Amino acid sequence: MSTAPPSHPEAIDPYALDRDGLAAVLAELGAPAYRARQVHAWLVRGVDDPEAMTDLPRDLRDQLGERFAPARPELVAHTVADDGHTHKLLLRYPDGEAIETVLMLYPGRATVCISTQAGCAMGCPFCATGQLGFRRQLTAGEVVRQVVVCDAALRSGTIDADSLPEDAPDHVTNVVFMGMGEPLANLPATLATVGWLHDPEGFRLSARGITVSTVGLVPGIDKLADVGLPVTLAVSLHAATDELRDELVPVNRSHPLAELEDAVRRYRDRTNRRVTIEWCLIGDVNDDAHQADRLAVIARRLRAHVNVIPMNPTPGVRWKEPSKRATHAFVARVRDRGANITLRDTRGRDADAACGQLLASYDLGSGSRLPAAVGAAERVDQLLPLRQGPAS
Ligand code: SF4
Repeated sequence: MSTAPPSHPEAIDPYALDRDGLAAVLAELGAPAYRARQVHAWLVRGVDDPEAMTDLPRDLRDQLGERFAPARPELVAHTVADDGHTHKLLLRYPDGEAIETVLMLYPGRATVCISTQAGCAMGCPFCATGQLGFRRQLTAGEVVRQVVVCDAALRSGTIDADSLPEDAPDHVTNVVFMGMGEPLANLPATLATVGWLHDPEGFRLSARGITVSTVGLVPGIDKLADVGLPVTLAVSLHAATDELRDELVPVNRSHPLAELEDAVRRYRDRTNRRVTIEWCLIGDVNDDAHQADRLAVIARRLRAHVNVIPMNPTPGVRWKEPSKRATHAFVARVRDRGANITLRDTRGRDADAACGQLLASYDLGSGSRLPAAVGAAERVDQLLPLRQGPAS
């Protein structure tokens, strides 16, 4: 890695640039167009240090060393759960803000759950991230880097092979915007990241392999539809009456259910893509027959698929997980009323894998925005030298 600090006044994290932006920087430096493609290819492979871009001429590497200001996250903690199938990363950016990224491995599929904000302003009372409050938006580069870190780790084998299942793919195949923060409240970074992921010379993910979740920011749903890609939209509904939703998802007071339903219908019609409804099932709160009946009506009207995720118990949050009996009764009732519904597993329960839980489980210390380093090492199962580096 180069050590000299960038000296250019417009130095920028290269992952904050899209391909056109990268081309513009290279053109400014007098480099031919194909050089931008070379640099882009290195970035996709997780290499952001011009020194390591060995197919570039010496003087161009020096110039890029001045123009690039890589905002590399530091891996603060890495917890492993589900027999190596779930890897939860706590990443800290250079200004000290920390966020979570989760890598979930399935046979032939590697899904990264990424964060778009440090904290969240939506204030859902049952959510660990909501309890942290809003700290700041992540830049496009900071969001993209979460995928880069996981992709490079899979490609280069930097994740300890002992903790990887045998059937793990060697690259990221799916990305879900379901980590910390509300993606549609940070549209510029979300849309730029979708661009990186879908780019045929980038991560080459199909639009269907990308899922953007929202608690129901109606203007953002319409803007996502404007992009014209059949990205999967996942609406975190959690309540099927305005009365309960006003409490569980406060943004409902601004965009009530009827307005949200209209937006989802518009999204579905414009993208021709089935929308999913996420339902965090909370014991004695939204697991009753009335909510099940209302949910079935909404899901049928929207021709949406419902994913039910039993709540993970979270330290400091008064809401509790539903009983197994209530969970199965709820799912059966919705299904019996003609809606498509799946009961999802609670991936990473033993790795604090609900969004915000790993960070929430750290002692932030008075006035500190950082997870305490002491205690972290005691809590994590493994701390690995996961880093961005040349992928093989
Ligand atoms: S559930 Fe999502 S939108 Fe609500 S506070 Fe948590 S991270 Fe924010």
